[in-house]
Amino acid sequence: NGGLNDARNLRVKLVLLGDSGVGKSCIVLRFVRGQFDPTSKVTVGASFLSQTIALQDSTTVKFEIWDTAGQERYAALAPLYYRGAAVAVVVYDITSPETFNKAQFWVKELQKHGSPDIVMALVGNKADLHEKREVPFQDGVDFAEKNGMFFIETSAKTADNINQLFEELAKRLPRPSP
Ligand code: GDP
Ligand code: MG
Repeated sequence: NGGLNDARNLRVKLVLLGDSGVGKSCIVLRFVRGQFDPTSKVTVGASFLSQTIALQDSTTVKFEIWDTAGQERYAALAPLYYRGAAVAVVVYDITSPETFNKAQFWVKELQKHGSPDIVMALVGNKADLHEKREVPFQDGVDFAEKNGMFFIETSAKTADNINQLFEELAKRLPRPSP
């Protein structure tokens, strides 16, 4: 495969999960294209976007990013979507406790049905809306810690912590032996 999955170059499937409206598509577009479009209702769609990250140790990770086209409403379809994913990014909106509850549901689902060595991140998005915050930072920290996940708050709008999120995920991937 052109050396894509040797010890220095990984290619992995990444899925995003979380309620509709939490900013999954915006996170992807910010990461892949460096853009934020507040009016865009567009979801990346059936095909995926990919983006490669180079780490300090000169290894590279190519993320093949699957964004849902609104299927987040149909929990029954989710297993098809996250099958084979090496990375799952579970997103909520820090202004919405309902979306935080839903994120916890997705984490439990992934623990039950995802690949056993899946790398998961819990992401509190829309951190720029701190005046409307309803989910305390510490609640995210605590839930992630209990579930062995990486936690970060991001803003797709300001780009805050978006690259850091993907970099940290890349670092946490299990490496094939050389
Ligand atoms: P998805 O349904 O999870 O894919 O959510 P979208 O990416 O479509 O975003 C839903 C809405 O939230 C859009 O109106 C975005 O402009 C807005 N949004 C996304 N990320 C942020 C963010 O970090 N900050 C703010 N203020 N708004 C955001
Ligand atoms: Mg979307």
